[in-house]
Amino acid sequence: MTRPVLIAGAGIGGLTLALALAERGLASEIFERASALDEVGAGVQLAPNASRILDGMGLGPALDAVAVRPEGVVISDAPSGRPLKTIPLGAAAERRWGAPYRVVHRADLQAALHDAVSARASIGLTLAARAVKAEDVAGGAVLEIETAGERRTIDGSFVVGADGLRSVVRQAVKLPEAARETGLIAHRAVLAAEALPKAFPLTHVSVWLAPSAHMVVYPVRAGREANVVLIGALGATTPGERVARWAAPARALVAAAPRWTEWPLFDRAPAARLRRGRVALIGDAAHATLPSLGQGAAFAIEDAATLARVIDEGGPDPLAAYETARIMRAMRLPEASRRQVAIDHMGGLAARARNLALTAAPTSALLRGLDWIYGWRDG
Ligand SMILES: Cc1cc2nc3c(=O)[nH]c(=O)nc-3n(C[C@H](O)[C@H](O)[C@H](O)COP(=O)(O)OP(=O)(O)OC[C@H]3O[C@@H](n4cnc5c(N)ncnc54)[C@H](O)[C@@H]3O)c2cc1C
Repeated sequence: MTRPVLIAGAGIGGLTLALALAERGLASEIFERASALDEVGAGVQLAPNASRILDGMGLGPALDAVAVRPEGVVISDAPSGRPLKTIPLGAAAERRWGAPYRVVHRADLQAALHDAVSARASIGLTLAARAVKAEDVAGGAVLEIETAGERRTIDGSFVVGADGLRSVVRQAVKLPEAARETGLIAHRAVLAAEALPKAFPLTHVSVWLAPSAHMVVYPVRAGREANVVLIGALGATTPGERVARWAAPARALVAAAPRWTEWPLFDRAPAARLRRGRVALIGDAAHATLPSLGQGAAFAIEDAATLARVIDEGGPDPLAAYETARIMRAMRLPEASRRQVAIDHMGGLAARARNLALTAAPTSALLRGLDWIYGWRDG
């Protein structure tokens, strides 16, 4: 019998990979460090490049029951509160990129993936099992797991590190383990929809740009709640202090948030490698990125789709084929996301020039600029 693909980590990338393999009749075993899959409260944007893959695996109805398809993104100048530009999504996104743009609570996304995984006999999922070490061996790969203080080694056809920012599987690919500090922190909150000021319509994603900071607000939980992410320089600044000079609706929104969680932001320097022997990396383990393009989870989903395909195709070296297919995109994202933050956080004259350019830009040009991300198709 063919040995299963061993996956370290049951995050968005690991669960999607197991499902994509199952779709192709391939078995996998997932090992997850946490003892329960209960993602802490926050949102995730599923752009068409991610939706296309999830829909293709039959997850569309489960996602639509909990997600919202926003009509567009409204970009505003935070100090004045003035809207600068609306980028159409909704039906326009679906027409242009062939799949819907959704926004969803991470717990809902993870639950949809987990339910689908549980329904597949060919997927094993072991919780409270920490991957300790991965190794490429003759004709396969092994993963050493620690469960309840005991270690055991499991044989697989391939080992995939979907173990996120602090990946241990990265060692087996001979890449530096440490992620890059970005000097930025995200404050995240979830508010009841009724608590939102009218300047943040839940039919849209709102992006407010200020010197050295920006805020993103969008609906989750089928529109009953709003996800708020406020990003700025790491330091002792509270969300209230961060928006003290912003227009009144932003200050009101921040004051209404019941609880903030803090996420220091890391990314990874682009590396020209995604595998070694029969060990591969996907998602944040491979190319963690700043959230400014809303693509970290989406790229983990893309990685999973491509990796499942090349393993199924069974060429002479499937992981080499995976690396060839993904490496340019994997290297591009973290740098593009950093550039986006630099633009979003401009101040003074630069911010005025950016705002003028954004207001004057034809919508078609802005949409074209997103094609490389949202228009991606595997194969
Ligand atoms: C503020 C913020 C906003 C974001 N917004 C978006 C967005 O709008 N759109 C988007 O696409 N992305 C977004 N992202 C990025 C996205 O959350 C990540 O890129 C994505 O979750 C990566 O998925 P992953 O499967 O690689 O890793 P994770 O989802 O982090 O999963 C890794 C899993 O591995 C497990 N694990 C870790 N170590 C081990 C081990 N040794 N053994 C076993 N298991 C282990 C972890 O417990 C976890 O379950 C955002 C990130 C942040 C911080």
